Amino acid sequence: MIRIAVSSLLIVSLASCGILKPRSQAPVAFANNIVVAHRGAFKQNKLPENSIAALKQAIALKCTGSEFDVRMTSDDSLIINHDPHYKKLPIEETTYADLIRHPLSNGEKLPTLREYLLAGMENNPATRLVCEIKPSEVSKERGQRIAAKAVALVHELRARERVVYISFDYDILKKIVALEPGVPTQYLNGDRSPEQLKADGITGADYHYSVFKKYPEWITAAKKLGIALNAWTVNDAETMEWLMANEFEFITTNEPELLLELMPKTLTRNGWKLVWSDEFNYQGLPDTSKWGYHPGAHGGGNDELQYYTANDTMNAVVSNGVLRIIASKENRENKSYTSSKLQTRNKAAFTYGRFEVRAKLPAGRGTWPAIWMLGTNIDSISWPACGEIDIMEHVGYEKDSIYGTIHSEAYNHIKGTQKSKAIYTADPYTRFHVYAIEWTPEKIDFIMDGVVYNQIRNEHLTVREWPFDAPFFLILNLAIGGGWGGRKGVDDAIFPATMEVDWVRVFQAR
Ligand code: MG
Repeated sequence: MIRIAVSSLLIVSLASCGILKPRSQAPVAFANNIVVAHRGAFKQNKLPENSIAALKQAIALKCTGSEFDVRMTSDDSLIINHDPHYKKLPIEETTYADLIRHPLSNGEKLPTLREYLLAGMENNPATRLVCEIKPSEVSKERGQRIAAKAVALVHELRARERVVYISFDYDILKKIVALEPGVPTQYLNGDRSPEQLKADGITGADYHYSVFKKYPEWITAAKKLGIALNAWTVNDAETMEWLMANEFEFITTNEPELLLELMPKTLTRNGWKLVWSDEFNYQGLPDTSKWGYHPGAHGGGNDELQYYTANDTMNAVVSNGVLRIIASKENRENKSYTSSKLQTRNKAAFTYGRFEVRAKLPAGRGTWPAIWMLGTNIDSISWPACGEIDIMEHVGYEKDSIYGTIHSEAYNHIKGTQKSKAIYTADPYTRFHVYAIEWTPEKIDFIMDGVVYNQIRNEHLTVREWPFDAPFFLILNLAIGGGWGGRKGVDDAIFPATMEVDWVRVFQAR
């Protein structure tokens, strides 16, 4: 520590005398995006990982960060390489001179940390240098020495403002914090809570995305504590969307181009905030803090044939990141089928917002799955005065149609005046689709996979037409038979029939 302090003082004093001229530093304003190119933007351009060419590409893309891995040769040179071996040579047992006999696949010399940092400071107005210090395989002490040498070099090159240090080794990060208090540091190994990171002066949690699925409370805690959130290594749009919904500050990816394309379109970058969700990243019965049941043989008004159970994993169960609502051919209470109807009634209600549900539908004649909402005042003023918003309805005998509908006192299916439209889809049973509404005081848009296929406008008449300025709760259910679903009978060969729900997200305007 003392050694670093002295050498940095020396640089500062020499610089102020004009003897040693550090390159002039244009002020750095990091790109207003969340994209960290993992080992540089290598993949799409078929560049070697961790090459200066890949770094330059990340800078050209204006990624907010470009990540790279630091290791040390047997003769104490810091070089950039991910694996402990380079061209089959063990880096820690090979001299720098021996390593650089072998160029990277694009002809580039194996870069030193000095060369890499200098390249990363050249014509780079916006990209952080995300410096991963790999622990030594020789000794813990050597790992600490690698960290100290890297920090000293960053200091010497006056690159401090641009660098974020990351490591799987907690003690390496603690060493860096001790050497450079206040420098951004992110821990990679996923086994420390945000509270622990905060206590140790580490400023970010850069964990594998599965860690955040397992401990979603860490996302909330990190935000509360001002711990930066980063996730690695996220290469698919679906996971990127989930992290963006949760407003991660960074996403580390091999596909920076994809993330840069998705980011401006995502809801949280367009005035929406995630206010309620269930990602179904747990096992067993649905989360009782979010969902209740509506057990019984109701649905009688529609002549439905199912009995809805409660707390029964045969009919509603969460596993592998997905909620399954399962209808079975099973006699219960004079009904021939069991199924489940989950609702947020008395647990969560919303007025306006963007409601999105990613689901895969059950196939077969007689099924009637629905994702829908009812006014919380249904008990006092009853249906249809309370209002109903059907985000998604589907009947199994009509294979390719998804319906979005509203019902109110003035417009409902008893009178045949409900406002409904369908969108056609080829594969609701084999692929997940996002069924959504965007509900404001002026309109409700019905949306499938981002396509608005029905729009109900507020005519500004009375609550008989538009009861939609009040709180509504969410419902997920799978009915069997009934006035609509059972119009062509029920095919008993289809059971068990399952609706899968990957997630439910509710966004509201900021
Ligand atoms: Mg790395």
